[in-house]
Amino acid sequence: MPVTHAQRPTAAYINLDTLAANLRAMRDFVGENVKYMAVVKANAYGHGAVPCALRLESERVNWFGVAIPEEGVELRNGGVTTPILCLGTFWPGQESLAFDHDLTPVVFNEEEALRLNTLAFENNRILDIHVKVDTGMGRVGVRSDLWEQFAATLSSLKNLNVDGLMTHFAAAENPVENAFTELQIQRFNKAYDIFRAGGHSPTWSDLANSPGAIRHPDSRGNLVRLGGALYGLLDDILPNNIDQPQLKPVLSLRSRIADIKLIAAGQTLGYGRTFTTESDSRIALVPIGYADGYPRALSNKGSAEINGQIVPIVGRISMDWILIDVTDVAKPVIGDEVTLIGENIKATDIAGLVGTIGYEITCGLTSRVPRIYE
Ligand SMILES: *Cc1c(COP(=O)(O)O)cnc(C)c1O
Repeated sequence: MPVTHAQRPTAAYINLDTLAANLRAMRDFVGENVKYMAVVKANAYGHGAVPCALRLESERVNWFGVAIPEEGVELRNGGVTTPILCLGTFWPGQESLAFDHDLTPVVFNEEEALRLNTLAFENNRILDIHVKVDTGMGRVGVRSDLWEQFAATLSSLKNLNVDGLMTHFAAAENPVENAFTELQIQRFNKAYDIFRAGGHSPTWSDLANSPGAIRHPDSRGNLVRLGGALYGLLDDILPNNIDQPQLKPVLSLRSRIADIKLIAAGQTLGYGRTFTTESDSRIALVPIGYADGYPRALSNKGSAEINGQIVPIVGRISMDWILIDVTDVAKPVIGDEVTLIGENIKATDIAGLVGTIGYEITCGLTSRVPRIYE
């Protein structure tokens, strides 16, 4: 691959065609009778929010979801015109962002509702909001004993319009928890009735994240909120023996060999001397480390692919470097490409080695790693 200008060759390559193909696979699987929200919070799970959103916008996604208003502003500044839902909260002082950048807040407490209503009143505006109800996640959302009261309060706030009602699943991916997920759906339906009875008529009713949309057809409402499915990161979330769409990872992480050394048997490598060569070895130095978000916990555990061969990471992963054992690789040379995440070594695979999920691996890639779109 040609290097266009001089830079460290460590980069995350984002395949936007795969992103679009994953959306299409979800549409085929879930159907066209619901609308689609692409969740692009946390820099699109590390994939780069603006380029991913612009591509998904050209695929006619109906909504974007972000965690915080700042992320919504970034999308607007990048040229995104599709509706944006801020899944988190507007902190005091951030309310004007909703008006200035056309962001739709999720509201789950009265204080936030009052602040938004006041500003909407001052601006002579009716602001669309989405209300989040807690149906069992126990995190963000209005508790069930307060639904009636909350619906009544919102009725009195004349400058807010409840455009959506939503909830979030605690364990939609887990078949053992099916009864709980169904209970969450029933509770949501009850919340919907309460808000209708309270005089609200939300356009959007949405419950499902990626696992909900795939596994629980009765949770789809009229909008599904997809994150992991779009990035092809569900391998370690969904059981593999269920009916599911074919989704492919969008991100690969690659670098190049910076140096190669012959190391005699019996020598130690790296910080802490955690690895000793058993025989005469050829060791390659690769410019990536935990400062790039490549987990230090992969020390002596991870692997890399070079010239189609899988080779082990040896010794501690340091801040800026790893070492790989290329003794068995035919004729490795400085500059050879090294794949840390790709078709044969998935983010979800390395997540499993360090006790986390693929989302945390891609989200964790730091800003030192350029995202290159292909
Ligand atoms: C992150 C998030 C999603 C997307 O979840 P995935 O499992 O990645 O599809 C959906 N809804 C809410 C409220 C979220 O915070």
